[in-house]
Amino acid sequence: MTAPEVWSPSRVLTYRSCPRQEFLRYRRGVHTPTAVAETPGVVASTPETATKLRLGTISHAGLEAAYRAAVERAHPQPDPGGRMSAFAREAMDAIDAAWDRLGMPDEGVDGYELNLSIQSEVFDVLARLPVPRPSAVLGVEHELVVPTPSGRMMRGVLDLALQIGHDAVHIRDWKRKRLRNLPRSTELPRDDAMAFYAYAVRLSWPWVKRVSVGLYSTLDNREVTADVPFPVAREVVIGHDVLAEKAEGDRENRPTPDGSNCTYCSVRVDCPLWTRLEIESPEPA
Ligand code: SF4
Repeated sequence: MTAPEVWSPSRVLTYRSCPRQEFLRYRRGVHTPTAVAETPGVVASTPETATKLRLGTISHAGLEAAYRAAVERAHPQPDPGGRMSAFAREAMDAIDAAWDRLGMPDEGVDGYELNLSIQSEVFDVLARLPVPRPSAVLGVEHELVVPTPSGRMMRGVLDLALQIGHDAVHIRDWKRKRLRNLPRSTELPRDDAMAFYAYAVRLSWPWVKRVSVGLYSTLDNREVTADVPFPVAREVVIGHDVLAEKAEGDRENRPTPDGSNCTYCSVRVDCPLWTRLEIESPEPA
């Protein structure tokens, strides 16, 4: 008996942008060396992109460690109204560990100095955010797997889930992007990932009546937030179901014909279209 397929918002997005990529990444189950990137599904095509992705992973690790420490009461809790920078030591240790794990350089502008700037970026974020009660932290890197309205299983991982009222939850995604490059608050309720999170939270924790979501720009130290009414979230997930059904019946798995999605494709070395595009557009001499 084969295990039921599990979908995710990013798989839906992948199929929407390129059915061939969705097939290569999720059905064939083979990952090429270039697919082994720090951010799942995204391969760095240039050294700059690779560094950007790694820095996102590293700052994420620092924030995750700080919230885990806040929950686990790693040391006496700060005063009420204290800031998350009380857990800066855990965050900085996690940053350094991720730095080493990802093989980032130790010295120079791209090494020590860059490491310091990430530490200070994460510290600034922590210094702005209040320490939640440990019991208010419902999850850090918390996986939710729930059935969609048509019974398909779908999975998502919440960066941070906070209880903000007796029946209200806030979901936060850390983004190492500028605020201007994030969706606007009016767009968030229909964002594929955010809507799915709001849907999954309501199913996983039936006591929740209100879900808000936020994309937190660690570069600008500000968050875009929005309430996501359940009917809106459900409607977006029904759209995922429709697309997933189409994908499951798709035997052609066509590539995106114009190559517009190929630059960051994690499986492009296995794609005949990419090989052809490379041959047809050789690097200028
Ligand atoms: S290289 Fe381009 S066409 Fe091929 S799978 Fe990736 S995104 Fe699709």
